[in-house]
Amino acid sequence: SSLLARRASQSDEGAIVRMSQRARELRAKGQDIASLTIGEPDFDTPAHIQAAAAEAMRKGLTHYSPVTGILELRQALAKKLKDENGLDYAANEIVIANGAKQAIANAVLALVEPGDEVILLSPYWVSYEITVRLAGGVPIILKADVDEDFKAPPARIAAALTERTKLLILNSPSNPTGAVWSRPELEALAEVVKSHPRLMVLSDEIYEYILFDGKMTSFASLPGMRERSITVNGFSKSFAMTGWRLGYAAGPAPLAVAMARLQSGITAGANSFVQHAALTALSAPRDDVEKMRARYEIRRDMVVKALTAIPGLRLAPIPATFYAFPDVGAFLGRKAGNHVMDSVDTLCDWLLEEHGVATVPGSAFGDPSCIRLSFATGEAELEKALARFAEGLNRLS
Ligand code: PLP
Repeated sequence: SSLLARRASQSDEGAIVRMSQRARELRAKGQDIASLTIGEPDFDTPAHIQAAAAEAMRKGLTHYSPVTGILELRQALAKKLKDENGLDYAANEIVIANGAKQAIANAVLALVEPGDEVILLSPYWVSYEITVRLAGGVPIILKADVDEDFKAPPARIAAALTERTKLLILNSPSNPTGAVWSRPELEALAEVVKSHPRLMVLSDEIYEYILFDGKMTSFASLPGMRERSITVNGFSKSFAMTGWRLGYAAGPAPLAVAMARLQSGITAGANSFVQHAALTALSAPRDDVEKMRARYEIRRDMVVKALTAIPGLRLAPIPATFYAFPDVGAFLGRKAGNHVMDSVDTLCDWLLEEHGVATVPGSAFGDPSCIRLSFATGEAELEKALARFAEGLNRLS
């Protein structure tokens, strides 16, 4: 028997970590590997945000922050949510955390009792499942495929509701698919939520600014949904601030109090000078954010062009994010010499070992017929990676 608690073995991002580690090993051996695994901007944090952090440190803003975050930042976020998202949250309904990841954990731990069911819309970011399991919740995984643009229709969600259903996690724009829920699609989801007495929706909007086509709607802005929602967002992706660890959750006051209580017992307030830098990120002109968005859009176009030229591969539109999630189901079972592609995991391993391109199998996101390609990668490396990916798939028969 083990010394370790069982929950410790559940908290693992599995395939993503394994693929990037293997890519690093091969590189260390001198092989030329083009990697499309990593889910973070390849850009450095804009200089004016770095300067604001340094300035805050020089001013001595290096002490513990209040548990829910500094008031100025919560006020600035309340204004951002109002102006950009049409959401009415008071500063005391916002809890700043060490990354959106912690904000999500706070929300799940504050809402989910052991045995409660949590609806995850697959393909989904695997961290949701880990957090739900840590809380003792039961993930109910509803799949939508490439033909549905990876968005589960409301009837499928309605059919999965039980008296134990407590929470649904929505991620629009989505990691790993890049899908964005339109306003009518969200309105249909809101009808389902209204039909259930205690269903809450956690809306993870962290890819909000990496949008190419159409519009982004915050779920909580729909009529009646404010009291049924938690809105999560963060600075990692939009402002290229992954290593700074700053995110937040906004929700009805009693929920904010509960999230703060949990956070107080686990990590306390987020990094203080990072919060001052975030104030600058929000209030300064967003030229850098727009420049990065424009670069992702150029890459999105490169990816769509390269992938749609591969016979047999199926691709849904990618209106946002820096991920593509092609369906490679048609290639499973095919061969290259003695290698049989009996699963998407085998296929990704083979693409890495034989063609020098690292990707993440869709099985890591609940979809064993897709592959995730991250295009948060310089254009030259991306071009090379896409050529290798196509060459590999085209070789299979
Ligand atoms: N939500 C989604 C959908 C993500 O893809 C990620 C990061 O990969 C996060 C949240 C976590 O963001 P943070 O760095 O703010 O913890």
